[in-house]
Amino acid sequence: MILDDIYGVILERRRNPSPDSYVSALTTKGKDAILKKIGEEAAEVIIASKGLDKQQVIHEMADLWFHCMVLMAEEGLSHSDILKELEDRFNKKKEQDTSGCIFCNIISKETPAGIIYEDENVMALEDINPQAPLHVLVIPKKHIPTSLGLTNRDNELIGQLFQAANKIATERGVAERGFRLVMNTNPEAGQSVYHIHLHLLGGRPMHWPPG
Ligand code: AMP
Ligand code: ZN
Repeated sequence: MILDDIYGVILERRRNPSPDSYVSALTTKGKDAILKKIGEEAAEVIIASKGLDKQQVIHEMADLWFHCMVLMAEEGLSHSDILKELEDRFNKKKEQDTSGCIFCNIISKETPAGIIYEDENVMALEDINPQAPLHVLVIPKKHIPTSLGLTNRDNELIGQLFQAANKIATERGVAERGFRLVMNTNPEAGQSVYHIHLHLLGGRPMHWPPG
């Protein structure tokens, strides 16, 4: 990619300053000079985009972009760090896209359901198609499509899901007899709602291996 090529040249000019290199001259002046240049280039972008010449806007944006890359090199960063950040944000946004999620609609009370437990982070409801005398779904209020979307930030939340399940199992009298907690991930496991949930199943002997 062209960004890799340009970044390679910037690094090279920093490593081996040459008298007729623009990047060498700028970087030897120090970070303040680079920052000043970025300010100027940003102003040029603004001026250009107030005008009608699209080519001029492209030209000024390329200048700004280039100088941002010079600053990245100064900061010990590269465009791949910035691209990764953008990618993470985009993925996070996708994760937050809860429109059409049946469980998010139940959580927001737009869709009625047999809610039997609710706290700040967790909700539990009777499964609409029970597979055992006790079949409760314990779900986080946060929309996470599959268990593969869990991160360290969710460690506490996962603990809370299990604790809520234990509480319900105890209240419903299956704790001592035994119960099963299941989370299905993706199609072969039979996941049908893409908002993670713990199935709490109890009230009858469970078979193993599961079907
Ligand atoms: P899974 O197949 O592991 O994704 O589990 C989804 C579960 O959600 C199934 O057991 C469904 O019966 C249950 N389910 C789907 N819609 C609802 C709903 N509106 N209320 C309660 N349970 C539901
Ligand atoms: Zn959801």
